[in-house]
Amino acid sequence: GKAVRLQSLCKSFGQTKAVAGVDLDIADGEFFSMLGPSGSGKTTVLRMIAGFELPTSGSIELAGRDVTRLAPFERDVHTVFQDYALFPHMTLEQNVAYGLKIRKVPKAKRLARAREALASVRLEGFGDRRPSQLSGGQRQRVALARALVNTPRVLLLDEPLGALDLKLREQMQIELKELQREVGITFVFVTHDQDEALTMSDRIAVFNQGRIEQVGTPAEIYERPATPFVAGFVGTSNLLTGQAAERVVGTAGTFSIRPEKIRVLREDGDSSEPGCSSAVGTVAEVVYLGDATRFLVDLDAGGRLTALQQNLETSSEDVAAYRGSRVRLQWQPR
Ligand code: ADP
Ligand code: MG
Repeated sequence: GKAVRLQSLCKSFGQTKAVAGVDLDIADGEFFSMLGPSGSGKTTVLRMIAGFELPTSGSIELAGRDVTRLAPFERDVHTVFQDYALFPHMTLEQNVAYGLKIRKVPKAKRLARAREALASVRLEGFGDRRPSQLSGGQRQRVALARALVNTPRVLLLDEPLGALDLKLREQMQIELKELQREVGITFVFVTHDQDEALTMSDRIAVFNQGRIEQVGTPAEIYERPATPFVAGFVGTSNLLTGQAAERVVGTAGTFSIRPEKIRVLREDGDSSEPGCSSAVGTVAEVVYLGDATRFLVDLDAGGRLTALQQNLETSSEDVAAYRGSRVRLQWQPR
């Protein structure tokens, strides 16, 4: 069934149109990400689903029930914020059990469930500590345990990994994804980080200026971006404007070619593969990245393309030697 349905959702703050007509269906059990640059309206949408913000117009359904005008506590959702919002004077167990206490769950039962929730985020035996005695990643896990203990139907997460350093963030991305699969709760996850969205999500909605530009699986978003904005925001892309000369002749538009889909060959070397598109040019810059090498090539026909080649074989070759050399770039028209 549908966990969340948004219809023609709008929100204005004075003259600012923060959310300008969002339609979205999120399925039960999905890990769904809202991805977009800062200021694109993601947090405002999340806050409206949570009930902290009322829409200017449009409607919100949770599990088929219209909740547009309901108070936050009347909705079967829980929000995890970036700053975790833990109570500093309480132990972890008390922090996690707090929501159950509010709902008058008997003490023995709520402590048992708090311990269970702490165990599910790999913090078994940490129940007596206080938040100040934890690392950032551990605090993040407590915030999650506190959400899970309430077994909401939908968990809303607003940049929950934003405060962590890169290595820990990447580790938590995998953990969080595994946890979501285990508990089966619908996650609606806000991030401005495209790698994070691609890593974690079943589906992604790409936001731009209060609107959704595309909804799809990570592969759909990456391989078939619907707009130049999506192509540029998710991954890096070469964008060319022009007209198709074959297939759909005369179709004008913007064409997107991912750097790793382009092969770099010596201009006078191997003849081009049949069926491939190609262009010749001069290498303007080479960047050695360890696992790959990036080539920036000025095309004879005008414009510049970026190509990315995996460094599959160990080489003592100095990539700088490529600078200024003539190359042929080749890619599948598809
Ligand atoms: P995001 O989470 O994608 O960074 P937000 O939803 O926070 O974007 O903000 C969308 C737009 O709405 C921004 O232009 C922001 O300045 C504006 N905005 C958000 N909340 C408020 C508010 N309470 N008052 C006024 N403007 C706001
Ligand atoms: Mg935000």
